[in-house]
Amino acid sequence: MRVLGSICITILLISCALADDGVIQGVGVKAAEKAMSELSFERGDGNILVLTNAGYAIVSGMTTQKALKGLSETTGCSQGDGNLFQVLRPHWKPLWFYFFNRENGEALYLQVKPEALSMRPEELRSAPDDAVFSRISKANVDLDYMLNNSDEGNRTFNERIFDGNEFSLVGISNVWARNASFDFIQAASFHDHLCPGVTSGYMIAKYVEKELPINSSAESYKVIAVPPWCKDDALQILWDATVGKSGIFVMALTDTEKNALKAKYNQSDVAGIFVRWNDTAKQGDALVLSFNWTRMYELTGTKDWKGPTWAPKLVMDLRMMDYWDEPEVAVSVIKRFQVDQNRLAQLQNAGMHPLKVAGVM
Ligand SMILES: [Zn+2]
Repeated sequence: MRVLGSICITILLISCALADDGVIQGVGVKAAEKAMSELSFERGDGNILVLTNAGYAIVSGMTTQKALKGLSETTGCSQGDGNLFQVLRPHWKPLWFYFFNRENGEALYLQVKPEALSMRPEELRSAPDDAVFSRISKANVDLDYMLNNSDEGNRTFNERIFDGNEFSLVGISNVWARNASFDFIQAASFHDHLCPGVTSGYMIAKYVEKELPINSSAESYKVIAVPPWCKDDALQILWDATVGKSGIFVMALTDTEKNALKAKYNQSDVAGIFVRWNDTAKQGDALVLSFNWTRMYELTGTKDWKGPTWAPKLVMDLRMMDYWDEPEVAVSVIKRFQVDQNRLAQLQNAGMHPLKVAGVM
């Protein structure tokens, strides 16, 4: 009897687990079906982008990756096709789905009610939308459209119709619509949003890769991110230069230090020290680089911005796309030097000032 009892409990537990998975997948299906009717598209439409925090979000103790399967099977969008991305969020944030049609700029945002995940799959299938989603918002997010219809743009941002995710989702949608590369969108998704800072990291990466190319498996890049800004998230993902693997060391500068450096280096911001390290030879080549934001504001026409307050960073994001392959318009070398193991340790250790070790301040 006891054996039979424990078998029953096991079966019960397994079926609960399956029900959880089924219902999470079902929520993805439900969101996709709603988007297909609201944005009028068919499965496999290449003009559709899907963004979500599914897989990162944990709802009522359950991970949510199965929603990705529901989304993908229903819309036909996938990571492989470069039209489904997981946007990084902390696990405690609400689960959301977002669909964007680049043909007309229309977008739909849906946020899931945690209670919906305790429904049975068949119950979920027939549940009304408002029992499953706490928010369903639609807007045109094409940047040109929003600038020409600023009342609508103001509404999207001021009323936070995507629950505070507006900047993140609008930025990523617009560069995707303009054929941004997969690695770039991945970097923006890891950073949580796209801002000119991420683009500066992308440009710095290209600059370093040209100046100090990786030639052997013994080589890797190490970043002394002093001072850090959004660029460093792009570098972590593009170069696998993560914190935990000692690929990047982060140190802040005081405002006084930043201003003194800016005055010294032609109004450019010091962006950090970038080392191509050879772990066999135990030596490397280092570049101290700067990024000229003043020039970037001028080139993108955002220097004396008069338009809506939500717009200049988005405008910059799009206009900076023209310079992805010309990083030298903003990136320049402050100093080149060689490092051995001892020097590298000095650049990395707490208590040392890396820019002083490098001799640039
Ligand atoms: Zn940023």
